[in-house]
Amino acid sequence: MGWIINPSPLVACPVLNQDLSFPVKNIYCVGRNYRDHAFEMGSNPDRETPFFFQKISEILLLPGSNLEYPDDTNELHHEVELVVAISNGGYKIHKSEAKDMIFGYAVGVDLTKRDIQKKAKESGKPWLSGKVFSGSAAISEIVLKDDSLDADKLEISLSVNGELRQNSGCDKMIWSVNEIIFLLSQTVPLGPGDLIYSGTPSGVGKIEKGDTVSAILHQENSARLSFQIE
Ligand code: MN
Repeated sequence: MGWIINPSPLVACPVLNQDLSFPVKNIYCVGRNYRDHAFEMGSNPDRETPFFFQKISEILLLPGSNLEYPDDTNELHHEVELVVAISNGGYKIHKSEAKDMIFGYAVGVDLTKRDIQKKAKESGKPWLSGKVFSGSAAISEIVLKDDSLDADKLEISLSVNGELRQNSGCDKMIWSVNEIIFLLSQTVPLGPGDLIYSGTPSGVGKIEKGDTVSAILHQENSARLSFQIE
């Protein structure tokens, strides 16, 4: 049977040195996953199990695109994150299965309307209005995983107008990539095409119209992204 309306097309994320694209399905984000960032946001990370929120694939800021500054915020923040691309799904997986679900990694920026998120937090409301808007999940090309390289050996950094703002080894994560996949799969059935933004280290801050934001995933095949705010 056909569709009664036209279905949305899949969002295609490029893969480094490949002719084929990665079809993006769901975007999950970890709320707090670096001690230094949790402290800068005024919470004690040792007491918290990881929590997740979600973005939609349509808001992905793909390589080569620029970001339009949203008109309802005065505090747009950058959060550089290691992005994990999932190639095969799983529900309530065993810890040991997590690594086999990883297709590759990218560097991403979880763009956040901090003023709106703060209000939501204070009144115990969901973060949707501060986190999900057009272009709010920037991503680089995806780099196929190298089985000899654990995610905790990776490093991410972000610069604004050439000035380094965030830089961290992924070994500083409170919950490792494999633990995140394992924990998320206990409640959410993960599927091929899902992306997981794994949390940001300290150094988040404001970005303005006219700024150029660049981020790097440092490894043998580095992935980079760069966009302007218009
Ligand atoms: Mn984030």
